[in-house]
Amino acid sequence: MNHHKERKINSKERVVSYEECRKNHAASIGKYAVDGCCEFMPAGEEGTASALRCAACNCHRNFHKKVVR
Ligand SMILES: [Zn+2]
Repeated sequence: MNHHKERKINSKERVVSYEECRKNHAASIGKYAVDGCCEFMPAGEEGTASALRCAACNCHRNFHKKVVR
């Protein structure tokens, strides 16, 4: 009789991914230009500060579009 427990776990199962980088690299000159990075790749291991940095474009993960599926 653990139906309730199973249902709760399933509804919480979400995959979070970070897609294109949206950091505006041309903000200082009043324009909009992104670096073209299309997927966040952690630069370091999980739990370290570099895990929040993109290995490809070196921007913080917050600049990447968060997608929850
Ligand atoms: Zn970037």
